[in-house]
Amino acid sequence: MRFGFDIDDTLINLREHAFHIYNEKLHQNVSIEIFKQLKTVEIHEAFGLDKVAGGKMWASLLEEIYFTNCPPFDGAIELLNQLYRDGHEIFYITSRPKGYCTRTKQWVEEKGFPVKEENFYCGMEDHEKIHIIKELKLDYYFDDKPQVIHTLTDIPTKLFVKDQSYNQHINLPRIKNWFDFKFE
Ligand SMILES: [Mg+2]
Repeated sequence: MRFGFDIDDTLINLREHAFHIYNEKLHQNVSIEIFKQLKTVEIHEAFGLDKVAGGKMWASLLEEIYFTNCPPFDGAIELLNQLYRDGHEIFYITSRPKGYCTRTKQWVEEKGFPVKEENFYCGMEDHEKIHIIKELKLDYYFDDKPQVIHTLTDIPTKLFVKDQSYNQHINLPRIKNWFDFKFE
C-alpha cells in the first residue's frame, strides 16, 4: 500500500512545541488548557496577539520551532517504521516553505522516521497537495488541517484526520493515537 503523511501536527506535535516557545519568549504563562481549546491552527490568539503580530512572531521563530526538539506524537515513528518494514511505501507531503525543505527532511530522518529521498514532497501550497496525492495514487493520506482536507474531495484515497481541537467539524475517520491505527 501507498501511505502519505502530512508532517506538522499530524506526525509531530509542532503547535504545542511552538506554544511553549511563545510562552518563553513572551514571558507569559498561558495554560496548556487554553491551547487545547484553540479552534484555529494558528496559536497567536492564546497570547492575545492579532493575526499580523501572530504571523510575525511565527515567522521570526520558525527556525527554532522547526529544528529544535519538537516531539513526534506517540506511536508515529513506530507505526511508520512498521509499515516500512512490512513493505509499504511511505510518502511525506509537507507545505513547509521551500527554503526549509532540505533541513526538514534531515530532521525527520534524524528523529527516526523512515525517509526515502524520492518520497519526500515539500514546499507546495496547501491547495496543491491534492495534485501530488492524486499523482502518487496514494491508498491512504493523513492530515490535520481543514484547509487541506477540504480540497481532497472526489479522490479514491482513504483519508484520515489527525484529531485536533480545530478540526472537530470534519467528518472523517480520526487518528487519536498512532498506536491504535489499523488499516484494512
Ligand atoms: Mg499539518
